[in-house]
Formats: sequence, C-alpha cells, structure tokens
Amino acid sequence: MFFYNPSAQKNLSDFGIAIPMLSTRYQKVLEYVQANFNPSLLQIGPADLLSEDKLRLAHSQNFIERLRLEPTSELLTTYELLNSDGSYHRYDPRSAKYPLAKITEAIYADIATTVASVLAVDQTGFTFHIGGGHHHAMTNQGRGFCLLNDIVIAGRVAQRELGVKNIWIIDLDAHKGDGTAEITQADESITTLSIHMKEGWPLDQGDGSEAWFTPSSLDIPVAENENQLYLSKLAQGLDQLEKNYPLADLCIVVAGSDPYEKDALPSTSLLKLTKNQMLERDLMVFHFLVELGVPQCYVMAGGYGDYAHEPYINFLSHIKHTIIK
Ligand SMILES: [Zn+2]
Repeated sequence: MFFYNPSAQKNLSDFGIAIPMLSTRYQKVLEYVQANFNPSLLQIGPADLLSEDKLRLAHSQNFIERLRLEPTSELLTTYELLNSDGSYHRYDPRSAKYPLAKITEAIYADIATTVASVLAVDQTGFTFHIGGGHHHAMTNQGRGFCLLNDIVIAGRVAQRELGVKNIWIIDLDAHKGDGTAEITQADESITTLSIHMKEGWPLDQGDGSEAWFTPSSLDIPVAENENQLYLSKLAQGLDQLEKNYPLADLCIVVAGSDPYEKDALPSTSLLKLTKNQMLERDLMVFHFLVELGVPQCYVMAGGYGDYAHEPYINFLSHIKHTIIK
C-alpha cells in the first residue's frame, strides 16, 4: 500500500529557502507507482491534520506550544536559516512566494500521512509513504530540516491504536537518526538502528555531549573511505538486531536516498554508494524483514537534487512482484 498527500508537497524555494530539497522526487516516485501498481494500492491523503495529543507522543508540551505561538522562530531554527550574528543564512524572504510559517501546513499533512501509512500496515504487511522521515526532530525542538518526528509519532500511535508492542526503526539515511534516538532513548519497546556517515553533520558539531550524540540502540558509523564495507556492516547490524533485541511487531524503515553518490547536498558527500549498492541496501533490509515476518513501513527521509528519486524507484521495481502477491 502506498500513501501520498498532495497537501504535504512543498518546494523550499517557494518559501525563500535555498536548500536543494525538491518535491520532484516525490512526484517521480508517485508517477512510477501510478504507472506500475494497481490504483487500489495508492491512498491519497489524509485530509485531517494531527491532533496535539498525537504530537505529544514524541514532543514536549513546551515545544508544541512554541510551535503554535511562534512557528516562524521554530522554523528558522529547524531549517538552520540564521547565522550566529542573527543575519539570514540561505534564506531570502524577498524571494518567497509564501510566508515561512505556511510551511507548517505541509509538514503537518506529511506527519499525518506517515501515521496513516503505519496504521495501515496490519492490513497489508508493507506500506510506503511517498514522503515522511523527519528523523532529526527532537523532543524539544526541530532540527536538520525536520520539524516534528513523524517516525516516533507514528510508531507510538501504532502502539496505542493497533496494540503492537515492539517496534524497530531501521534508519538508512546518510545522517544519523539522532532525533529518533533522543526521543526513544528510555523506551525499551522501540529499538533503533542507524547506519550513517561517521563524520560530518551532525556528529562534527560540539564536544560529544550534545543531544545529537544520544546513542541509538545500534549505531553503525561508516567512515569516508568505507563505502565498500557499507553492505557488510549493515548485514552485521541486522544480525545483531535479530539476535539481541525482541522481535518487532512492526518496523519503520527510514529509507533516505542521500547516501547515493549522485546526491546533491554537500553534507552527504562523505558517503557515496553506487546505484547498485543502494539497491542492495534496500533489498537486504526488505528481505530480512520478510523472512522474519515483520510488517514494514517505509518513509523516504533525505534525498537531494535531481537524482534523489532513482534509488526508491529502483527498489520498488525489484520488489514489485513480492509486495503485490
Ligand atoms: Zn539525511
């Protein structure tokens, strides 16, 4: 089952933000799904937004209130649009079609769609949200282009509404799933695995005591010259996940395409997987979960520039016959 929400689509440039996060990657994946899967497998929406009680499953009341009262301030922090002297960084309100605070409408729609897609997994065993994956959002603030952590919110809504107990979050994005780790650090029902760049953002910021260094249940750092070891490290991590943690009732896969060698964001340049390595990565996780009988929910997370859709489409083309059986 696929989920897509037109209300969640946004080009950051429309808001005056110069970050190469293009909504075209979602449109290209959507077009692929429309052309290759039965229309009954695609859900559009939901139209209703999330209630604050669901946001509280991952975020503090203080943050939720700040977001309601001062969204622009929270967005300037989340998208890193201020220099230390208070001047704007890669943000030009004069070039914006819409005020910055209007982004929150698209973000809320995106979060609601991840929740809807995770809640549908008990019927289908596989869901793919063409969007989502805001893994840097922390308990008390948005960070790293991620305002609210849809992954943890959706996982905890599923615990509440589907009665699932143990959840795995397998995070394949180039950047560490630091917000997810921070929010769930005291929660034994959620096991987090993050395979990510060993150096670079966010792990090059600060002295190691900051919240973004909060360990995941399993962290797999990959150094700059270790592209060839990526798949064997991932295989070892999945082996540890299976052996050392309770079996999951569902798994959310944060399938960032930004480890791809054609990714355009400078901060992803320390990891450069080929198209084939990206496919091997995704198929390894998919078949690992299929063999264990764990229902799986995908969110797209990071992926920048004109080629960011390619790994997702390549993956879906290879699992097409498995998931529609
Ligand atoms: Zn990323």
